[in-house]
Amino acid sequence: MAIDVEALKSGNSRALAKAITLVESKRVEHRTEAQLLLEQVLPVTGNSIRIGITGIPGVGKSTFIEAFGLYLLSQGMRVAVLAVDPSSPIAGGSILGDKTRMELLSRSKDAFIRPSPSEGSLGGVAQKTRETMLLCEAAGYNVILVETVGVGQSEYEVASMVDFFMVLMLPNAGDELQGIKKGIIELADALVINKADGESINLAQQTRRHYENALHLLRQNSFWTPQVMSCSALKNENIEAIWGMISGFKIDASKNGALQEKRARQAREWMTKLLHEMLDMKLKQNPEVKELLPTLNNKVTEGETTPYLAASQLINLLFKPEA
Ligand code: GDP
Repeated sequence: MAIDVEALKSGNSRALAKAITLVESKRVEHRTEAQLLLEQVLPVTGNSIRIGITGIPGVGKSTFIEAFGLYLLSQGMRVAVLAVDPSSPIAGGSILGDKTRMELLSRSKDAFIRPSPSEGSLGGVAQKTRETMLLCEAAGYNVILVETVGVGQSEYEVASMVDFFMVLMLPNAGDELQGIKKGIIELADALVINKADGESINLAQQTRRHYENALHLLRQNSFWTPQVMSCSALKNENIEAIWGMISGFKIDASKNGALQEKRARQAREWMTKLLHEMLDMKLKQNPEVKELLPTLNNKVTEGETTPYLAASQLINLLFKPEA
């Protein structure tokens, strides 16, 4: 699959789409080609701000991304929207990054919207999203929005690939965590109470104060204090202030080196995760391991050998010197 790297770097969206298709391909030869392409564009990546957005279904993610994205376009920026979607076969595939959910945004030539790949092999869907993010940066997108639903592991994955992680919430101070896991709140750089309009304005302010108090106790040792804001995506209110907060974060974090350090740490952690997955795959695919595994399963079940010895025997098969 020949990719025109110069066209990609000059922001050509067809070249970008083609490069993403290559990255998403499961064919082994495409995998190698994709990695070479990524290595080639790596020097021109990293110039965007990577923003993760999560929240339960119905909180207003797509409405927010549409309003926020249109605002960014009006400021002369180019915006890419990617999705990490824990799509279940029951739900019928991707429910995020759907162009029909962000209709105005998807019509702009300066916006690029891409749903989750249907599946990922090594590293899962998240790996593809990370790589797609790099391609979008190489194509000159200044803001990358990574959307996910707060289900399963996907929010953790998104938090570990972005610079700034934002959780959208509903104006509902009474309901402590609104179906969002506590661990996610702890990862958030900002909580944004959406739907702060109409009859919900007061409740939204109450909710905001509630979380401001709760967040006060978290992240004492980080340079960034998580912020709590409210907005109305539907009425386009406070959208500019949210961008002000995020661009302020980027300026501060770049100046004091925290952003570079965060990205470097994320890349190292991802390498370790991939290494573990690769080892696991090698183990599962090794013919001798496959052959010996049932016997050892039995021996462990019958108490004829210890789990430690059985595991050692299997792992040794991987590192056997060549005969
Ligand atoms: P998602 O599932 O998180 O992507 O949520 P959607 O963006 O599809 O929004 C769910 C519903 O909430 C839709 O009917 C939206 O019109 C509505 N909605 C989204 N944002 C707001 C808002 O700021 N205020 C109000 N009142 N409704 C909103």
